[in-house]
Amino acid sequence: MLRTRSEVSPITRDDDVLRRSLADAHIPSLMCALVHVTGDVSILRGPIRPVHSFFGDAQGGITEAQQAEVRARAFEVLRAFRYGGHRLPAPPDAERVHEMVNFVIGTEVGPDYAAFLESELAMDESDPYACPGLAELPAELRANFRVVIVGAGMSGLLAAIRLKDAGIPFVILERHANVGGTWYQNSYPGCRVDSPNHTYSYSFRPNDWPQFYSQQEVLRGYFDRAADDYGLREHIRFDTSVLAARFDEARGTWSVETEHASGRRETFEANAVMSAVGQLNRPKWPDIPGQDRFRGIAFHSTEWEHEHDLTGKRVLVIGTGASAFQFAPEVAKVAAKVTIFQRTPPWIAGTPDYHADVPEGMHWLLNHVPYYGKWYRFAMFWRMAEGILGAVQRDAAWPDQRLSISANNEEVRKLFIASLEELCGEDKELLAKITPTYPPGGKRILFDNGNWVRCLRRDNVELVTDRIREINETGVRTERGVQHDADVLVYGTGFHASRFLMPMKITGRGGLDLHQHWAGDARAYLGITVPAFPNLFLLYGPNTNIVVNGSIVFFSECEVRYVLGLIKLQLERGAAALDCKREVHDAYNRLIDAGNLEMAWGAADVPTWYKNDKGRVTQNWPFGLVEYWNRTRVPDPADYTFLPVKR
Ligand code: NAP
Repeated sequence: MLRTRSEVSPITRDDDVLRRSLADAHIPSLMCALVHVTGDVSILRGPIRPVHSFFGDAQGGITEAQQAEVRARAFEVLRAFRYGGHRLPAPPDAERVHEMVNFVIGTEVGPDYAAFLESELAMDESDPYACPGLAELPAELRANFRVVIVGAGMSGLLAAIRLKDAGIPFVILERHANVGGTWYQNSYPGCRVDSPNHTYSYSFRPNDWPQFYSQQEVLRGYFDRAADDYGLREHIRFDTSVLAARFDEARGTWSVETEHASGRRETFEANAVMSAVGQLNRPKWPDIPGQDRFRGIAFHSTEWEHEHDLTGKRVLVIGTGASAFQFAPEVAKVAAKVTIFQRTPPWIAGTPDYHADVPEGMHWLLNHVPYYGKWYRFAMFWRMAEGILGAVQRDAAWPDQRLSISANNEEVRKLFIASLEELCGEDKELLAKITPTYPPGGKRILFDNGNWVRCLRRDNVELVTDRIREINETGVRTERGVQHDADVLVYGTGFHASRFLMPMKITGRGGLDLHQHWAGDARAYLGITVPAFPNLFLLYGPNTNIVVNGSIVFFSECEVRYVLGLIKLQLERGAAALDCKREVHDAYNRLIDAGNLEMAWGAADVPTWYKNDKGRVTQNWPFGLVEYWNRTRVPDPADYTFLPVKR
C-alpha cells in the first residue's frame, strides 16, 4: 500500500532559524499544526480565524498583528515541543479534525464533505486512493490480468504505480522518448504549472517544491523520478505510438497495434486498455488563410523550436490563452518587437506568488513542523478548487447574465477589474482592450502576478485586437488592412481538446468505431467507460476537466481508484470484461449536460476549448470535487454488464 508520509525532521536548536521560518508561515495551517503539537484546540476558537473569500488573500484576512501573535505563540510551542523530546499528544479525533477543516478553509462544510476532506487529509497515514481488497485477491488471478496503458504522463504513471502495487502486470506505450506527458512535450519559455504546486502532486508523493507554481523542468523532474523510484521504466515502450485497438468479442480481450519510431509494428494483447493520453497535446492550427505562405520561422507553442534565437527578432504571437500568457512575456524580454494578436481577452486572477520561490522558512516549516505540510496542501486544495466553485455557478434569478451570472460572480468580476485597473494605470486604452466582456469562468481564468499587463505595457510589445484576415509571406494582415511583418510567427492557438483519443482507431463490440460513434461529441460514464467498449478505461476523459483550478491529479487519482475497483469486480466474478450499461451512461451524461449549463462556461457565449464544435461542453466537470470523489469511490456492479469468459 502506498502511504502518505508526514514524518518530519526534529525542530532545530537554533532559535533564530525557528523565528525566521515562522515569518514565512501560512498562518491557518500553522495554527492547525499547533493543535497537533499541543493537543489543545482552543487556539482555533479565539478571535483569530481565516475567512474564506473568492480569490482572496492566502492568509484568509488574518491581520499582520494577529499573524505576529500566532507566530509568537508558535515559537514558544515549538521550542517546548523540542525540549519535550518531540513527543506528540494523542491525535485529534474525527470531531476535532472536522473543526480544524472548517477552520482552515474559513467556512463551514456539511457532513457530506467530512469523509471526502478527511480522506484527502489522510491524517492517519492511510492511502485514500487505494482500491481496498484488490491486493488480497489470489496472486494468480491478478498476475493473469494484463493491462495496456497508453501514455506515460501524470495519469499513465499513476495507473502504472497503482497496478504495480496491486500485482497486476502492465505495459505502458508512450509515443515520446521519455515520461512526463505535458511536462515533456511543452517546453516553451516561461512554462510552469498553474495549479498550486503543493496540490499538484500525487497524494502519496508530496514534494518540497521550489516555487509555489514551479517551472516545467521541475515538474518534468518530479515525474521522471517517480518513473525511476517505482521501477516503471522497464515496463515502458518509448517512441511507440498506438495506432489502433480492437476488442475481440470472442476472447473478451483487446489487441493493441503500435508503431515504433523506427517503423516497426507490434501488437499487444491485454484484458484492459487504460487510455492516459491527456486532453491538451494535439496542436490546433487556426483556420486562418495563408499559413503556408509565411516565409519566416513559424511554429506552435507546444512544438517550440528552441534552435531559433529570438534575440532581436520581430515576433508575432497569435493567441492569449494560458500558453501565450506564459511564453510571450519571456519572448518580449529578448525580441526586438512582439506583436500579440488577441481575439478574446482572458480573465486574470491576481496571484502574487505566481513566480515566487517558496521561501526558505516555508521549506523549513514543511520539513520540520508536524502536520504543517498536510494542512498547507489541504488549505491550497480547498482555496484554489472547491472554494472557488461558488464564484462560477449561475443564479437563474440574476438579472442580466451577459457580464456576470450571480452575485458571487459579479463580486469576482469587480475584483478582477480593480486589479486590471491598477495594473493598467493611466493606460485606459489598454484597459479597455484587455477587459473581458463575458462572465468570469466563461473560459479559463488565468493566474498572474501582473506579469502579463507589464509585458503588454513594454515599449517593444503591441497588442492587436483587430481580427486577422490572412497570413502572408512577410507576416499577418488584419481585417483593417494593417500589415504586421515579422521574422517569427508563434501559434499560441491551443489544442484539439475535444478530440479525445485521436488519432487512435478504437473498435469495440460489433465492430463499432469509437470516433464514428462519438461523431465529434465524446461522452463517457464518469469520463471513464463507454458502452460497447468493454474494459476500455479513459483517464482524463470527457467531462473530467476541472477548470477553476483544482489539481487534475486529484481527478486522476479518483479515476485510477475506480478503474482498479472495476478490475477487482471482474476478477472476483470471473468475468472476461465489463461493459457500461447504456442507460446508466446516458442518464449520467444528461446530468452532466444540465450541470454544465449552470456553470459560467456553459452559460456564457464565448469561444472556449471547453466546448466541442457542436457547442456542447465536453471537457468540464460541472460539480464539486466531492461529487466526483463519491461517485468514483467504489464502482456499482449494477452499472455494468459482466461479459462471460467464452470457453
Ligand atoms: P487556448 O486556451 O485554447 O488559447 C488559444 C488562443 O488562441 C486563444 O486566445 C484563442 O482565442 C486564440 N486563437 C485560436 N484561434 C485563433 C484564430 N483563428 N485567430 C486568433 N486567435 C485565435 O490554448 P492554450 O493557451 O495553449 O491553453 C490551453 C489549455 O492548456 C489551458 O487553458 C490550460 O488548461 C492548459 N495549459 C496549462 C498551462 C499550465 O498549467 N501552466 C499552461 C498552458 C496551457 P479565443 O480565446 O478567442 O478562442
